[in-house]
Amino acid sequence: MTEQLSPMPEDWQRALAVVAHPDDLEYGAAAAIAAWTDAGKEVSYLLATRGEAGIDGIHPSKAAPLREREQIASAAVVGVTTVEFLDYRDGVIEYGLPVRRNIAAAIRRHRPELVITLNHRDTFHGGFWNTPDHKAVGRATLDAATDAGNRWIFPELVDQGLEPWNGVRWVAVAASPQPTHAVDATPGYERAVRSLLEHRAYIEGLTDEDPETYVRSFLDETLSANAPRFGGRLAVTFELFPR
Ligand SMILES: [Zn+2]
Repeated sequence: MTEQLSPMPEDWQRALAVVAHPDDLEYGAAAAIAAWTDAGKEVSYLLATRGEAGIDGIHPSKAAPLREREQIASAAVVGVTTVEFLDYRDGVIEYGLPVRRNIAAAIRRHRPELVITLNHRDTFHGGFWNTPDHKAVGRATLDAATDAGNRWIFPELVDQGLEPWNGVRWVAVAASPQPTHAVDATPGYERAVRSLLEHRAYIEGLTDEDPETYVRSFLDETLSANAPRFGGRLAVTFELFPR
């Protein structure tokens, strides 16, 4: 028998989603975020880069502000109004102390109970190789959830007025090849479609297909992939790490 996915915890109020690129949250997770903001929860986004290396036909100097605008618009569709950027260069983020420190600082500022990130593992479902940025930011976010609570790991943050926040109870990893939990994607589905469609310049650079056809077929496939493990419902899946 296929092991069932557990429902995601709902007894929290504030979440911070930390990902490498504009669009990382819109390829599925946004359906869960829409349901959470509907329920009155606060979700903020922190993007490590502006995704400026993501469109072959547009120079990074033009792509960066364009993709920043698209990200802010796509967040607003699912009820997220706080979107911050860390100014890393797209494609060459290195896992290490600086990125851990920057994410720990953001966790201290936002004081979330739930931290969300994107797949930190080497591969996606199906064996597709993950990108260096996703792995670096995902791993650094998992580590920073603990760093944020420890006064002595980055003492310079305390000097900047950022007191430790040890209140992160879970880190939820979206698009992991080893999901453990899920959120019903049905209530947020249409907003997830519109949210991903806000990345129009990116999608038009990616495919000649009609953008809405592309978005719906991608989300249908992704969100139905784990339905047999979630009572037949469309599922946004997460690998959940409790703390
Ligand atoms: Zn990405």
